[in-house]
Amino acid sequence: MIFDILTIFPDLLESPLNESIIRRAKEAGQVRIEITNIREFAEDKHSMTDDRPFGGGEGMVMKPEPLTAALQSVRNKNGLGRVVLLSPQGRPYNQEVAVELSKEKHIILVCGRYEGVDERFRAAEVEDEISIGDYILTGGELAAMVIIDSITRLLPGVLGCAGSAEKDTFSRQLLKHPQYTRPREFAGQEVPEILLSGDHERIEKYRFLESVCRTMDRRPDLLQKVLFSKAEIKLLKRHQLYERVKALQKEQ
Ligand code: SAM
Repeated sequence: MIFDILTIFPDLLESPLNESIIRRAKEAGQVRIEITNIREFAEDKHSMTDDRPFGGGEGMVMKPEPLTAALQSVRNKNGLGRVVLLSPQGRPYNQEVAVELSKEKHIILVCGRYEGVDERFRAAEVEDEISIGDYILTGGELAAMVIIDSITRLLPGVLGCAGSAEKDTFSRQLLKHPQYTRPREFAGQEVPEILLSGDHERIEKYRFLESVCRTMDRRPDLLQKVLFSKAEIKLLKRHQLYERVKALQKEQ
């Protein structure tokens, strides 16, 4: 997978892209991440990438020419790719979108700044707009990082533990069960006995029920999309949870 990032603040991305899992994925050749400084494609002597908005109003707008030239240069080097603009007006990002994008071979992430990008660049070049949440960031760089991070860990072989990503919160719209590590007792709180039992079948069932309860309490909206297997329904019924789950699914 190739990620190209177009930004006017390349240094912002250096550290997060060079630590931990992403660094290892780069070293293993599972991802290639290239950063292009839009400023290098500015045509005037001051390397201006923004200008005042036509019609007046606050702030500055990113000019279309440097953006288009920067995009062309990454296309010349790495091919067409899917052009994604980071924008608070984009479609909401979530695990489903991460899985969808993880199937692409090449994603070009365009980071806006100031009041955003000139509409003509957006209309001509952008295939997808993504928002990482209903709040306003100062620029698209952190949003690009969120996208790269969440997609990279889905790529085959990136996580040390095969199957780890499938068991994450959201992988099937259930929040992950609570987790414990050593010591067995901490600040007067014991690890649940069942997790020490070595009985994997019982542990799996316990964790599944904890996941469902956690999702009912914290994110009942997620339950709507969950499809339970026959065995799971039986288990939920045995613990008098099925009716509550059904009621919450209907409410959403
Ligand atoms: N004036 C714009 C508006 O109201 O829609 C907001 C511009 S914001 C200050 C500057 C840039 O940050 C945007 O062009 C976008 O690239 C990025 N950005 C801000 N919030 C974002 C979000 N929630 N998700 C993705 N990108 C975001």
